[in-house]
Amino acid sequence: IFGEQRKNSAGINIDIESEWRPFSESIQTFRQHQWQAGPIVNGEILTGETLAITAPYDRREAVGSVVFANAEQVEKAISVAAEAYPSWSQLPAAERAQSISRLGDLLEAHTGELVALCHREAGKTIQDSIDEIREAVDFCRFYAAQAATDFAEPKQVIGFDGTTKLLSYQGRGVFACISPWNFPLAIFLGQVSAALAAGNTVIAKPAEQTSLIAFRAIELMLEAGVPAGVIQFVPGTGAEVGASLTSDPRIAGVAFTGSTETAQRINRTLAARDCEPAAFIAETGGQNAMIVDSTALPEQVVRDVVRSAFASAGQRCSALRVLFVQEDIADRITALIKGAMAELSVGRPELHSTDVGPVIDAGAREKLLTHIESLKNQAKVVAQAELGEACLHGDFVAPTAFEIGSIEMLKNENFGPILHIVRFKASELEQVIDQINNTGFGLTMGIHSRNERTYCHIERRARVGNCYINRDQVGAVVGVQPFGGQGLSGTGPKAGGPHYLYHFTKDVFNA
Ligand code: NAD
Repeated sequence: IFGEQRKNSAGINIDIESEWRPFSESIQTFRQHQWQAGPIVNGEILTGETLAITAPYDRREAVGSVVFANAEQVEKAISVAAEAYPSWSQLPAAERAQSISRLGDLLEAHTGELVALCHREAGKTIQDSIDEIREAVDFCRFYAAQAATDFAEPKQVIGFDGTTKLLSYQGRGVFACISPWNFPLAIFLGQVSAALAAGNTVIAKPAEQTSLIAFRAIELMLEAGVPAGVIQFVPGTGAEVGASLTSDPRIAGVAFTGSTETAQRINRTLAARDCEPAAFIAETGGQNAMIVDSTALPEQVVRDVVRSAFASAGQRCSALRVLFVQEDIADRITALIKGAMAELSVGRPELHSTDVGPVIDAGAREKLLTHIESLKNQAKVVAQAELGEACLHGDFVAPTAFEIGSIEMLKNENFGPILHIVRFKASELEQVIDQINNTGFGLTMGIHSRNERTYCHIERRARVGNCYINRDQVGAVVGVQPFGGQGLSGTGPKAGGPHYLYHFTKDVFNA
């Protein structure tokens, strides 16, 4: 059912007129559309008090409304999912996979609407929104294909006496999937499709900022044939809905992506339960660095630095936060960064000319502005992009680059378009690697060097999940660049990689 060779989806190239024009018309249809979302329990959309959703790039623009799940609805969702688990887990893996793969097709068929929704609710640029939908499609097809092949038959284990034993993989029970707003469809569906394909039933809780697109995804999932008892949708805040899910003893596993602090809180909640320990998959934040030595090509470095630090308004977990530049070329690199930042266009994300859109909400904006203000007293501003009139009514933060004395000045992840530059001497390379490792985070790292011994050495010593050499450090591709961190950046396994699905299963051995 999946063909010999699974391929990632083609997406849409907005620079090719014949691809862009019909597609832009399909987005246009949803320019004024208002979406409604609410809890979906056993296939039924539940009602309650509605909250208005507005666009991050212009808070005067209404996008729709959402009803958050109340305690009783969350309780019912868990009961329904627990009841549906035995029959779903016993279905042949290929049958489960079929409906998840069909969801990939439905997402693709609704790309215009989903791009419009992603762009208006999460404030992503059109290109980022297209990439978002593509990644979601790829996750569905990748995990479906893997489940259908890996879990079709038990694996045979031959004993020393020649007898055959069987090792099979089964779901764990009810999985809570808790996701962030920065990949509101791709990460949301990546978690959910993996948990379902592995044979679990799921309670999906999206980030409170992006409930609308997650709701549409669940509607399409039901249309694709996932049974109503198997997938429950409970939008709401982390403190209420998230916490009541993770404290419930019927939850057999939690797939979480978000900040390190929230992962630690969930870990404590799970540990305090007086029941079977739950599986916990956490993908969290980073303090991602790039090391540039004097052999690097400055123009290439600056292209990759600007993309890694400022694309998606710096709201990617993989984004570059701290750039270490060898002293010998630091003046040249900072001058080029300053020049490139002067060209950045910050504004409404639907325009092709926009490089950097808004941040997600007023809370994020305030936090980033506080960080910028406090650094202005302690560090040198290298460059700050301009915010034009188009930014007046939205939650925008001007991309800013600082030169700072040490990475140790940064205590937390600053999740937005802020770059910190640190100079180092050639003799200090080991110290630089130690300082990066000592942050405790370990998500992505970039290296720019034409010296093979240098980049191999840094790569070997760095404690990070994903290391990128002589390129940018954002935009991992499903099935090709498995993604995930270590240390404070997450438990693993890597999403979009060969081992992810197995962490949603328990293995059963029959001797
Ligand atoms: P967040 O931690 O604030 O929220 C993430 C999710 O957790 C949301 O759905 C939220 O409602 C929920 N939540 C909050 N408190 C909870 C609680 N007590 N119990 C249960 N659930 C709770 O993160 P965010 O601001 O939505 O996302 C940005 C963060 O995500 C950044 O730190 C970023 O680095 C990280 N991230 C990591 C990856 C990765 O793959 N490593 C990918 C994307 C984002």
